[in-house]
Amino acid sequence: MTPAAVEAGRVDAFRAEYRRDHVPPHYRAALHLLFTFGVGGAALAICISRLADVQPLEWLTVPLTFLYANLAEYWGHRGPMHHRTRGLGLVYERHTRQHHRFFTHVAMPVDSLRDLRAVLFPPILMVFFLAAFALPVALLLASFTSGNVGWLFAATSLAYFLNYEVLHLVYHLPDRYAVARWPFVGRLRRLHQDHHDPRLMAQFNFNITYPIGDRLFGTRCRGPG
Ligand SMILES: [Zn+2]
Ligand SMILES: [Zn+2]
Repeated sequence: MTPAAVEAGRVDAFRAEYRRDHVPPHYRAALHLLFTFGVGGAALAICISRLADVQPLEWLTVPLTFLYANLAEYWGHRGPMHHRTRGLGLVYERHTRQHHRFFTHVAMPVDSLRDLRAVLFPPILMVFFLAAFALPVALLLASFTSGNVGWLFAATSLAYFLNYEVLHLVYHLPDRYAVARWPFVGRLRRLHQDHHDPRLMAQFNFNITYPIGDRLFGTRCRGPG
């Protein structure tokens, strides 16, 4: 048997175990998608609706927040998502112990909608991350600079998170979906596929969206395959 076939067999066995132990019968992928993009989209719309007479300097919040979010994604993924960290054990468990065993470089696509359980952030983690990391910064910025800066920070953070979820979802869709073959998306998808190689996952391609952090810290890599 080739190493790829052995790896595919390991993934198949883990998928069966995960579906049995972690996907309850009442799980509805459509509701999970609706929560992520419906609640996330509504919160984004509220943030944008609160902007008023934004000054040129205040718009700088958008690119700065984008960079902050990209580096948070990078260090969050390079750190607690791949190393067990006190207080963030659930993140490690879900990412390294589950997501990376459900999907490896030889088995990237989901088999059915129910497998989205292994791709999207669980609602509880989504609320936790936004409340723990985005909200306090938005409030601080609003009190030390202006309301517009606070709302722009919150809006850009939410948009970044939703973009992350869309891209990560596309990386794990079967090739028959046209969006998965768009050239720009295809390049990002290939980087994530290389990250899913168990030999590379703890060292390379920690950005799931755009590889800015990976370029800055020298961890961008095309896999051997
Ligand atoms: Zn993935
Ligand atoms: Zn990872």
